[in-house]
Amino acid sequence: MDEIKEKWDLILSTLKTEFKISDISFKTWFEPLKLHHIDEGKLYLECQEQMAVTYMTNKYTSALKIVIAEITSKEFDIVFIGPKDLPLYNKEESNDIFSNVNSSAKVAIDDDSGVNPKCTFDNFVVGDNSRFAHSAAVAVAENPGETFNPLFIYGGVGLGKTHLMHAIANYTRENNPHMKIKYVSSENFTNEVIENIRSGNMSDFRAKYRKIDVLLIDDIQFIIGKESTQLEFFNTFNELRDSGKQVIISSDKPPKDMETLEERISSRLECGLTADIGQPDFETRVAILRKKTEQNNMSLSDDVLTYIANNFKSNVRELEGALNKLRAYSMLSADTVITVEIAEQELKNLISPNGQKEITIQLIIEVVCDHFSIPLEAILSNRRTNDVATTRFIIMYLAKNYTNSSLKAIGGALGGKDHSSVSHGIDKIEKDIKVDSVLKSNIDAIIKKINPS
Ligand code: ADP
Ligand code: MG
Repeated sequence: MDEIKEKWDLILSTLKTEFKISDISFKTWFEPLKLHHIDEGKLYLECQEQMAVTYMTNKYTSALKIVIAEITSKEFDIVFIGPKDLPLYNKEESNDIFSNVNSSAKVAIDDDSGVNPKCTFDNFVVGDNSRFAHSAAVAVAENPGETFNPLFIYGGVGLGKTHLMHAIANYTRENNPHMKIKYVSSENFTNEVIENIRSGNMSDFRAKYRKIDVLLIDDIQFIIGKESTQLEFFNTFNELRDSGKQVIISSDKPPKDMETLEERISSRLECGLTADIGQPDFETRVAILRKKTEQNNMSLSDDVLTYIANNFKSNVRELEGALNKLRAYSMLSADTVITVEIAEQELKNLISPNGQKEITIQLIIEVVCDHFSIPLEAILSNRRTNDVATTRFIIMYLAKNYTNSSLKAIGGALGGKDHSSVSHGIDKIEKDIKVDSVLKSNIDAIIKKINPS
């Protein structure tokens, strides 16, 4: 919920641009929306007026779902509620808080667990890249604290580490409803440590973590090197593990490659099982796309799936991004069938985000003017105030180094400066850049903008 809260403004503004919502609609429908609560993968949004509920449900449920998934990488079902429904939810919520876990026949959903019910073993597609990690995850989920402890999953971004962790948590929770399960991102763990140190509540923090039966800590690489957080983590880890509680850790690399990690600690982390997830091969990518289209009731031809699988190779999150984009397209357009041509058109920005732009003098002029907020007319004029002249020199320097243009052509593009003044400008920057660190950092920043790769 915190993440949604934090990113709510971004979610709304993205929704507005991506789905071309007019200012007036936005003001009427979206600005008054309030986040109510999240429960079992459902995000409840409160509308000010009852009549908005039907309207929003029919019109914007999928759009919100898509944008939230894009921004938070989490899928929620969206439920709009109005003033009439409020007493029901407010009551339910308070019932939940006071409900007695032991007496309840149904599995008590531990709201604190941080577990995303949407990521399960059922919807994880196993390929050669993930077979081992998947089997290890299943083994741990079936026998928490007994087989591989800790389980250490590592691999690159968007390959399914977080998904597998939630899957373990969901499976374990279903089979052992009374176990206390906690999934935490390293970021949240760090924030909690900092917060508790600040407020002097570390003993509460420790007590809370030490009660956990299955602890999943995601992206541990972000903790390594942060001293007090790292220490807290290892103390917690050691205590849990020594008392037979399951610990599952993910990281972008194996323990032995984590530079600032002491030998003693990395060997502790390795003493359970270490499993990696690699990049999915073509067949796995197609299988993942099939599964995801089924789940979302999308129908895409084999040609389109093949096109996506051929163009998005490095991770699963990219595959999802491509599908989301096509889903948005089919929601917004009259075309019912997505052809390969449409897919090409819609996905080209995702395939090469900065469009493999050819570096031309024009591009350099645009980027440099924008960087220094100098109007183009000033550059093309004969004005020689310091900042205009320097900006012009920088353009000359970059044009010489990043294009094949002659000095004459460069001068021409700058409003007809002659060959010798171009040559002078380039010399000046070549000299100044060696001694002027501000100039150098500006030029480095501009180079990144014109040539991001
Ligand atoms: P990581 O944590 O490794 O960066 P995630 O677990 O967040 O990656 O995966 C990115 C997205 O791709 C998630 O939405 C996840 O559900 C999905 N995903 C990853 N691997 C698979 C898979 N094998 N089958 C189905 N979905 C997957
Ligand atoms: Mg992750």
